[in-house]
Amino acid sequence: MFPYKSKIKIAGCPNDCVASVARSIFPLSAPGVNNIRINPDEVANYANSGLDIQAEVVNLCPTNCMKWDPAAKNLTIDDAECNRCIALH
Ligand code: SF4
Repeated sequence: MFPYKSKIKIAGCPNDCVASVARSIFPLSAPGVNNIRINPDEVANYANSGLDIQAEVVNLCPTNCMKWDPAAKNLTIDDAECNRCIALH
């Protein structure tokens, strides 16, 4: 017997646009095969709107492969160290 609402979501994209990880109890998401892409304009928009990129994004990366330059509003990822965990993207 399952609880009242049970969700199983499958995301074929490593960016998990359907938010299977966040919105289901049994998420499946494809592992990334390519390098993570960054939209620098959107990162800057988030930073300008008050998101603490260092605390709420960079510091949560399990491999510490992200670097944030707050002065330049520039986020970089060392692709060789990224394990494509999709934790934050
Ligand atoms: S996918 Fe995971 S390891 Fe790679 S940059 Fe994002 S949080 Fe870090």
